[in-house]
This record gives sequence, C-alpha cells and structure tokens, in this order.
Amino acid sequence: MAAATGVALTLAPVSFNRARADAAVTGATTTGDGQETRVVTGRLETGAADFVYIPVRIPAGVQRIAVEYSYDRPTVPAGTPGNSCDVGIFDERGIKLDGKGFRGWSGGFRTSFEISNGEATPGYLPGPIKPGTWHVVLGPYQVAPQGMNYTVQITLTYGPSGPAFTPDHPPKRAKGRGRAWYRGDGHLHTVHSDGRRTPAEVAAGARAAGLDFMVSTDHNTSSSHGVWGQYAGEDLLIITGEEITTRNGHWLALGLPAGEWIDWRYRSRDDVFGRFARKVRGAGGLVVPAHPYCPYVACQWKFGYDDADLVEVWNGPWTYDDESAVDTWDGMLGEAVRKGRRWIPAMGNSDAHSDPQVIGLPHNVVYADDLTTDAVVGGLRAGRSWIAESRTVQLAFTAGGNGRRADIGGTLTARADAPIDVRLDVQGVPGGTVRFVTDEGQMHQESLPSSGSGSVVWRTTTSLAAYVRAEVRHPMADGSPGKGNTMGPNLMWGPMAALTNPIFLRRSGS
Ligand SMILES: [Zn+2]
Ligand SMILES: [Zn+2]
Repeated sequence: MAAATGVALTLAPVSFNRARADAAVTGATTTGDGQETRVVTGRLETGAADFVYIPVRIPAGVQRIAVEYSYDRPTVPAGTPGNSCDVGIFDERGIKLDGKGFRGWSGGFRTSFEISNGEATPGYLPGPIKPGTWHVVLGPYQVAPQGMNYTVQITLTYGPSGPAFTPDHPPKRAKGRGRAWYRGDGHLHTVHSDGRRTPAEVAAGARAAGLDFMVSTDHNTSSSHGVWGQYAGEDLLIITGEEITTRNGHWLALGLPAGEWIDWRYRSRDDVFGRFARKVRGAGGLVVPAHPYCPYVACQWKFGYDDADLVEVWNGPWTYDDESAVDTWDGMLGEAVRKGRRWIPAMGNSDAHSDPQVIGLPHNVVYADDLTTDAVVGGLRAGRSWIAESRTVQLAFTAGGNGRRADIGGTLTARADAPIDVRLDVQGVPGGTVRFVTDEGQMHQESLPSSGSGSVVWRTTTSLAAYVRAEVRHPMADGSPGKGNTMGPNLMWGPMAALTNPIFLRRSGS
C-alpha cells in the first residue's frame, strides 16, 4: 500500500467483528459493555521505516477508539540511541501526504489516547468515528541495536455517538494601541503536544511575562486551535500555529488559519518542504526554521533557507547553538545585499514546554500597525522587530543622516561619504556590552553602566557598511565585558540580552 513520502511500512490489517465476537481470534476479547479489543505485537529492527502504519478496520456503530502502546527499552551503551517511538492516528480518509485523514499525534509523550465525536485526548481531533480503514502510525525514531518489541492495543466502544465538539478559535484581533511595538512569544507548547502546561497556564504565563501576543505551536497537530478562544482577551492576542517536527529539523508555521494542519512526514531529501512552505505562506502564515543547530536527534535544520520567511536564531535561554544560528543568519544578510534579494529577519522565542522553562524568554518586540494577527505577522515578515530576553529590556535602534532616519528593518539611503549616526538607547541590562555588527563584523563595542541604561552612538557611511545591527550582551561569567575582536579557546561573549534586526544602509546613485 502506498503510504506517505519517505520510508514507510504498512502492516497487515486489524479487523473487528462485533457480530461474531469471536473469542478464538488471537488477542481478541469482548466485554459485556460493548467493547472489543485487539492486540498487535511486533518487532522493529535498526533501520526500521520512519513510519509504520497499522491498518485498523473500524466497523459501523463505534463511538470511541482507544489506543494504548508500549515498547521495550533494552540497556544500550553510552552514546548509542535507545528505543524511542512516537504514535498518532489517521482516519478512514487515509494516510496520503497532506491528505484529509489526520486525527492526531502525541509523539512520544503519551502511552495512550482516545477519540470520540465530542472529545479527544489533547493532541487528537474529536469528530465522527466513521467506518472504514483507519491507521495507527508508529514513528520509531530511534531503534536500539537489540531491536524494538512493541505492543499496540486497540479498543473500540460501540454505541451512539455523543454531541459534536464545537471548536472555540481565538479572535484575530485584540485591543491594541494602534501602530506600536508589541511583545510576543512565537513558539510555545502545551499538553496538546509534549508540554506539561495547559492552555490556561500558557496564556496566564504570557500575561505574566508582559506579552501582548503569543503563538501556539504544538508539535505536528492543530488540536489546540479549538480551545484557545476562551483564553484570549482584549489584552492578549493568541495566534494559531504549529511546530512541524521532521527528521531533518523543526519549523514553525505561524499565523496558520485555525484548524489548519501541516504534514511532517518527510525528510530534506524528499524535496517536498517547499510545497508545505508555500501552503503556509499562501494561507497568510510565516515559515520559520526553529533552533537550527539544536543538537538533539532530528533537530538540526537541513532544508536550507530558500523557503524561510524568518529564522529563529535565539531559542530559550542563550546557549552556544544560538551563537551558531546568529552567525549563519548574519552571513545570509551579506548575501542578500550582494544579490539584491529578500533578506531573512531573525526572531527569538522561548519554546517553553513546562516549568521551570520561562514563557517569554526570549520574545519578539514587533512594530505592527495594530494588535491583530495580520499586522503582527506583517511586522515580523518585514523584520520590523528585535528580540528581548524579558520585558525588563527596552531599546530603540536607529540610523540617521542626510536629514533622514531609518528604524529596525528599514533602509537609509545616503551618499557614499555622508556621515550616518547609528544610535542605540537601551535599558535593563546592567553592565551590558553593546555591539554594533556590520557586514565587516563587529565595528563598535561599548559597556553600559551598572544602572543598565545608556545610549551608544557610532558613526559610519553607506560606503563602509551595507547593514548594521545591534546586540546587547550580559557580562561574561568573570564579570568582564567580552573579548571584542579577539580569538581564543573560550566563548567570546556573555549571554544575549537583546538582538535587533538590521538597518540597511544604501548608497545613493553616485
Ligand atoms: Zn523544536
Ligand atoms: Zn518547540
């Protein structure tokens, strides 16, 4: 049977037969309360397919499907991946890539789930249980050298279906302040994927962090979209999205229409990512490669940036993989200038899943026409944003000269030799180090006082700099400001406190 793209394996179908209730069928049990159970056992070896599909023939009259699964975890030597297996389900509409059949995914976070017309385990979509061939999908993303023995138990409950689930989508507008800077975290998880926070707790955390907006990005499912309405408000815009978790990196689809789901079943070499990127962009959303250098299995970004609208260069508390992401992004700015093509703005998000991960560490401060989904998405797409470690950090970054001024994400055009003053006003980073970085690298460094507030001005020209961007770093662990333009065995900088998108400096016709 043809399955989704990439390597997939489809097993023999599992059948139920309520009428016969044939206890002689291996693994079949029937109880008196209208339930029927089948147990499937199997074994996967190292080199197993990315996705293993178990067809399940659902008869008429089923009101609930319940699935439990487990697998063994043999001891492996340090450095060798142990067994790890995800799970999800597709309904009678099939398993075709980008098809209609998706009904839920819980990755490796849960060992069981249930679906009925009126409700479902978080991560799964409530709705009709129609007869036909459904598929439980296993995603054995790590298989130990000893192999993986698994058991999947499927229980059907018969009876009339209950009332339908009514989705409560969040409004696409909150009470803003007109054209202004708005703070928001674009990467957040809940119990609808592998977070331990409920949607109510995430919304409360966003408010506590002083955010104006947040984006819901559970892994590989749209199931949370239907619950956010009650947690949004005049003071908090909740934008729907998804984190698409492939075997070759994760990406964020931000500003997806509520209820829209994006498939994740492909690798970089399958060459279908562009199709999904276009789908997201066509629906008004943003395509954002996430934590591109995260060292976890399957987390490193291998799809390139041709189809990216932004790149998440700062994910959670500052770590060395973020330094790599900023370097890659900075390299792409110079390339965009040379080729005269679209540049890719940076964003930063918390990717917070559970306590003690901090919602809003970091977040984006976006200049938007209003506090609406479209305006926030537009501001991010245009790079009119900077990244803050917390709401304590405030800054303004401008370039002025020739009687003109440009802000973050903008372009200042001037004669080749006309003086341009680049100015950063910052608050909230005691003893911080301000860096101005251009296509030549770091061109200016200055320390902030212990109050954390200060203004830094540096003069350049359009002949010397094609763009300029600012970083504000915390001091190094030893209290020093950082090593400037030097080289050595240690990290050169303390953790990031703020990072701006660039201002471009363009030479006027000479
Ligand atoms: Zn991720
Ligand atoms: Zn994430």
